[in-house]
Amino acid sequence: MSETMTPETMTKAAVLILLGPPGAGKGTQARMLEERYGLVQLSTGDLLRAAVAAGTDAGRAAKSVMEAGGLVSDEIVLAILKDRMAEPDTAKGVILDGFPRTPGQAEALDALLAEQGLKISAAVSMEVDDAAMVTRVSGRYTCADCGEGYHDSFKQPAVDGCCDKCGGKAFKRRADDNAETVGARLTAYHASTAPLIAYYGQRGVLRKVDGMGAIDSIAADLGRIVDEVTA
Ligand code: AMP
Repeated sequence: MSETMTPETMTKAAVLILLGPPGAGKGTQARMLEERYGLVQLSTGDLLRAAVAAGTDAGRAAKSVMEAGGLVSDEIVLAILKDRMAEPDTAKGVILDGFPRTPGQAEALDALLAEQGLKISAAVSMEVDDAAMVTRVSGRYTCADCGEGYHDSFKQPAVDGCCDKCGGKAFKRRADDNAETVGARLTAYHASTAPLIAYYGQRGVLRKVDGMGAIDSIAADLGRIVDEVTA
Protein backbone atom coordinates (compact mmCIF):
# COMPACT_ATOMS: atom_id res chain seq x y z
CA MET A 1 0.00 0.00 0.00
CA SER A 2 1.24 3.50 -0.79
CA GLU A 3 2.30 5.84 1.99
CA THR A 4 -0.44 8.20 3.09
CA MET A 5 -0.37 11.36 1.00
CA THR A 6 -0.36 14.78 2.56
CA PRO A 7 -0.89 18.10 0.78
CA GLU A 8 2.91 18.40 0.56
CA THR A 9 3.62 14.95 -0.89
CA MET A 10 0.79 14.86 -3.43
CA THR A 11 2.34 14.92 -6.85
CA LYS A 12 -0.58 15.95 -9.01
CA ALA A 13 -3.82 17.86 -8.79
CA ALA A 14 -6.59 15.48 -7.85
CA VAL A 15 -10.05 15.72 -9.34
CA LEU A 16 -12.28 13.49 -7.30
CA ILE A 17 -15.99 13.08 -7.99
CA LEU A 18 -18.31 11.80 -5.27
CA LEU A 19 -21.42 10.16 -6.69
CA GLY A 20 -24.37 9.07 -4.63
CA PRO A 21 -27.98 9.91 -3.81
CA PRO A 22 -28.94 12.60 -1.30
CA GLY A 23 -27.96 11.35 2.15
CA ALA A 24 -25.14 9.11 0.92
CA GLY A 25 -22.64 11.16 2.93
CA LYS A 26 -20.92 13.01 0.08
CA GLY A 27 -20.76 16.32 1.93
CA THR A 28 -19.50 14.78 5.18
CA GLN A 29 -16.80 12.81 3.40
CA ALA A 30 -15.82 15.72 1.15
CA ARG A 31 -15.25 17.89 4.21
CA MET A 32 -13.08 15.20 5.80
CA LEU A 33 -11.02 14.80 2.63
CA GLU A 34 -10.68 18.56 2.40
CA GLU A 35 -9.16 18.73 5.86
CA ARG A 36 -6.90 15.75 5.41
CA TYR A 37 -5.56 16.41 1.92
CA GLY A 38 -5.88 20.16 1.40
CA LEU A 39 -8.25 19.57 -1.48
CA VAL A 40 -11.18 21.94 -1.99
CA GLN A 41 -14.76 20.72 -1.71
CA LEU A 42 -16.85 22.06 -4.57
CA SER A 43 -20.50 21.47 -3.78
CA THR A 44 -22.82 22.82 -6.45
CA GLY A 45 -25.63 22.56 -3.90
CA ASP A 46 -23.71 24.88 -1.53
CA LEU A 47 -22.85 27.25 -4.38
CA LEU A 48 -26.50 27.35 -5.46
CA ARG A 49 -27.71 27.89 -1.89
CA ALA A 50 -25.27 30.80 -1.60
CA ALA A 51 -26.64 32.25 -4.88
CA VAL A 52 -30.20 31.90 -3.58
CA ALA A 53 -29.24 33.62 -0.31
CA ALA A 54 -27.48 36.42 -2.21
CA GLY A 55 -30.49 36.88 -4.48
CA THR A 56 -28.46 36.74 -7.72
CA ASP A 57 -30.20 36.10 -11.07
CA ALA A 58 -28.99 32.50 -10.96
CA GLY A 59 -30.19 32.12 -7.38
CA ARG A 60 -33.64 33.48 -8.21
CA ALA A 61 -33.96 31.07 -11.13
CA ALA A 62 -32.76 28.10 -9.04
CA LYS A 63 -34.79 28.66 -5.88
CA SER A 64 -38.13 27.07 -6.79
CA VAL A 65 -36.47 24.16 -8.61
CA MET A 66 -34.41 23.39 -5.51
CA GLU A 67 -37.42 23.64 -3.22
CA ALA A 68 -39.22 21.10 -5.38
CA GLY A 69 -36.22 18.73 -5.40
CA GLY A 70 -35.66 19.01 -9.15
CA LEU A 71 -32.44 19.67 -11.01
CA VAL A 72 -31.34 23.22 -11.77
CA SER A 73 -30.52 23.82 -15.44
CA ASP A 74 -27.10 22.73 -16.67
CA GLU A 75 -26.52 26.27 -17.92
CA ILE A 76 -26.80 27.82 -14.44
CA VAL A 77 -24.90 25.05 -12.67
CA LEU A 78 -22.04 25.07 -15.17
CA ALA A 79 -21.64 28.84 -14.99
CA ILE A 80 -21.49 28.69 -11.19
CA LEU A 81 -19.02 25.80 -11.20
CA LYS A 82 -16.73 27.38 -13.81
CA ASP A 83 -16.47 30.57 -11.76
CA ARG A 84 -15.55 28.60 -8.66
CA MET A 85 -13.03 26.40 -10.49
CA ALA A 86 -11.26 29.54 -11.69
CA GLU A 87 -10.35 30.52 -8.13
CA PRO A 88 -6.72 29.86 -7.17
CA ASP A 89 -7.44 27.73 -4.10
CA THR A 90 -8.60 24.91 -6.39
CA ALA A 91 -5.10 24.42 -7.84
CA LYS A 92 -4.16 21.56 -5.52
CA GLY A 93 -7.23 19.60 -6.45
CA VAL A 94 -10.95 19.43 -5.95
CA ILE A 95 -13.60 17.12 -4.61
CA LEU A 96 -16.75 17.53 -6.65
CA ASP A 97 -19.77 16.94 -4.43
CA GLY A 98 -23.13 16.93 -6.23
CA PHE A 99 -21.60 17.59 -9.64
CA PRO A 100 -21.85 16.29 -12.32
CA ARG A 101 -25.47 15.24 -11.98
CA THR A 102 -26.44 14.73 -15.62
CA PRO A 103 -24.67 13.25 -18.65
CA GLY A 104 -24.55 16.78 -20.14
CA GLN A 105 -22.73 18.05 -17.04
CA ALA A 106 -20.31 15.10 -17.17
CA GLU A 107 -19.40 15.96 -20.76
CA ALA A 108 -19.05 19.64 -19.92
CA LEU A 109 -16.76 18.71 -17.04
CA ASP A 110 -14.55 16.63 -19.34
CA ALA A 111 -14.21 19.66 -21.63
CA LEU A 112 -13.52 22.06 -18.76
CA LEU A 113 -10.82 19.81 -17.30
CA ALA A 114 -9.23 19.24 -20.71
CA GLU A 115 -8.91 23.04 -21.15
CA GLN A 116 -6.95 23.12 -17.89
CA GLY A 117 -4.82 20.07 -18.66
CA LEU A 118 -6.53 18.11 -15.91
CA LYS A 119 -8.38 14.83 -15.83
CA ILE A 120 -10.59 12.94 -13.45
CA SER A 121 -8.58 11.03 -10.86
CA ALA A 122 -11.52 8.94 -9.68
CA ALA A 123 -15.31 8.99 -9.65
CA VAL A 124 -16.37 7.30 -6.44
CA SER A 125 -19.83 5.83 -6.20
CA MET A 126 -20.99 5.77 -2.58
CA GLU A 127 -23.20 2.70 -2.51
CA VAL A 128 -26.17 3.02 -0.15
CA ASP A 129 -29.67 1.61 0.37
CA ASP A 130 -32.24 4.03 -0.99
CA ALA A 131 -34.71 3.17 1.77
CA ALA A 132 -32.35 4.51 4.44
CA MET A 133 -31.78 7.83 2.69
CA VAL A 134 -35.08 9.49 3.62
CA THR A 135 -34.36 8.98 7.35
CA ARG A 136 -30.77 10.08 6.96
CA VAL A 137 -31.64 13.27 5.10
CA SER A 138 -34.71 14.18 7.13
CA GLY A 139 -32.79 14.19 10.43
CA ARG A 140 -29.70 16.10 9.41
CA TYR A 141 -28.61 19.59 10.38
CA THR A 142 -25.41 21.61 10.43
CA CYS A 143 -23.62 24.13 12.60
CA ALA A 144 -24.53 27.57 11.27
CA ASP A 145 -20.99 28.83 11.94
CA CYS A 146 -18.62 26.12 10.66
CA GLY A 147 -20.92 23.80 8.70
CA GLU A 148 -20.12 20.67 10.74
CA GLY A 149 -22.84 18.09 10.08
CA TYR A 150 -25.06 16.45 12.72
CA HIS A 151 -28.06 14.13 12.75
CA ASP A 152 -31.01 13.76 15.13
CA SER A 153 -30.46 10.00 15.45
CA PHE A 154 -26.90 9.26 14.34
CA LYS A 155 -24.62 12.11 15.38
CA GLN A 156 -25.54 14.61 18.07
CA PRO A 157 -23.09 17.18 19.49
CA ALA A 158 -21.32 15.86 22.62
CA VAL A 159 -22.67 18.84 24.57
CA ASP A 160 -26.29 19.51 23.72
CA GLY A 161 -26.70 22.65 21.57
CA CYS A 162 -22.96 23.28 21.21
CA CYS A 163 -20.97 22.43 18.07
CA ASP A 164 -18.18 19.90 18.77
CA LYS A 165 -15.92 21.58 16.30
CA CYS A 166 -16.23 25.33 16.81
CA GLY A 167 -18.41 25.74 19.90
CA GLY A 168 -21.10 27.49 17.83
CA LYS A 169 -24.58 27.56 19.33
CA ALA A 170 -26.68 28.04 16.20
CA PHE A 171 -27.70 25.18 13.94
CA LYS A 172 -29.62 25.07 10.68
CA ARG A 173 -31.57 22.64 8.54
CA ARG A 174 -31.87 22.81 4.79
CA ALA A 175 -35.28 23.77 3.41
CA ASP A 176 -35.22 20.78 1.03
CA ASP A 177 -34.30 18.19 3.69
CA ASN A 178 -37.88 17.06 4.31
CA ALA A 179 -39.41 13.67 3.48
CA GLU A 180 -41.45 14.98 0.51
CA THR A 181 -38.62 16.76 -1.27
CA VAL A 182 -36.18 13.94 -0.57
CA GLY A 183 -38.46 11.62 -2.59
CA ALA A 184 -38.24 13.96 -5.58
CA ARG A 185 -34.47 14.29 -5.15
CA LEU A 186 -34.06 10.50 -5.10
CA THR A 187 -36.16 10.24 -8.27
CA ALA A 188 -33.99 12.89 -9.96
CA TYR A 189 -30.88 11.00 -8.84
CA HIS A 190 -32.01 7.71 -10.37
CA ALA A 191 -33.25 9.30 -13.59
CA SER A 192 -30.36 11.65 -14.32
CA THR A 193 -27.33 10.95 -12.12
CA ALA A 194 -27.15 7.17 -11.59
CA PRO A 195 -26.35 6.64 -15.32
CA LEU A 196 -23.05 8.43 -14.65
CA ILE A 197 -21.86 5.34 -12.76
CA ALA A 198 -21.74 3.48 -16.09
CA TYR A 199 -20.30 6.56 -17.83
CA TYR A 200 -17.29 6.64 -15.50
CA GLY A 201 -17.05 2.86 -15.49
CA GLN A 202 -16.48 2.97 -19.25
CA ARG A 203 -13.76 5.58 -18.76
CA GLY A 204 -11.93 3.38 -16.26
CA VAL A 205 -12.09 5.87 -13.37
CA LEU A 206 -14.99 4.41 -11.40
CA ARG A 207 -14.44 3.27 -7.81
CA LYS A 208 -17.06 2.06 -5.37
CA VAL A 209 -17.23 2.36 -1.60
CA ASP A 210 -19.77 0.94 0.83
CA GLY A 211 -21.58 4.05 2.02
CA MET A 212 -23.61 2.24 4.70
CA GLY A 213 -20.72 1.75 7.13
CA ALA A 214 -19.42 4.01 9.90
CA ILE A 215 -18.32 7.50 8.84
CA ASP A 216 -14.68 6.78 9.77
CA SER A 217 -14.51 3.51 7.90
CA ILE A 218 -15.92 5.14 4.75
CA ALA A 219 -13.34 7.92 5.20
CA ALA A 220 -10.59 5.30 5.41
CA ASP A 221 -11.79 3.65 2.18
CA LEU A 222 -11.88 7.02 0.43
CA GLY A 223 -8.48 7.94 1.81
CA ARG A 224 -7.00 4.79 0.28
CA ILE A 225 -8.45 5.77 -3.09
CA VAL A 226 -7.07 9.32 -2.85
CA ASP A 227 -3.65 7.98 -1.81
CA GLU A 228 -3.64 5.69 -4.80
CA VAL A 229 -4.79 8.17 -7.44
CA THR A 230 -2.56 11.00 -6.28
CA ALA A 231 0.62 8.96 -5.79
P1 AMP B 1 -27.28 19.07 -2.88
O1 AMP B 1 -26.80 20.06 -1.86
O2 AMP B 1 -26.17 18.49 -3.71
O3 AMP B 1 -28.18 18.02 -2.30
O4 AMP B 1 -28.17 19.92 -3.90
C1 AMP B 1 -29.34 20.58 -3.49
C2 AMP B 1 -30.17 20.94 -4.69
O5 AMP B 1 -29.43 21.85 -5.53
C3 AMP B 1 -30.53 19.78 -5.62
O6 AMP B 1 -31.69 19.10 -5.18
C4 AMP B 1 -30.74 20.51 -6.94
O7 AMP B 1 -31.98 21.18 -6.97
C5 AMP B 1 -29.65 21.57 -6.90
N1 AMP B 1 -28.37 21.09 -7.48
C6 AMP B 1 -27.19 20.90 -6.82
N2 AMP B 1 -26.24 20.48 -7.66
C7 AMP B 1 -26.81 20.40 -8.88
C8 AMP B 1 -26.36 20.01 -10.16
N3 AMP B 1 -25.08 19.59 -10.35
N4 AMP B 1 -27.23 20.05 -11.19
C9 AMP B 1 -28.51 20.45 -11.02
N5 AMP B 1 -29.02 20.82 -9.83
C10 AMP B 1 -28.18 20.80 -8.76
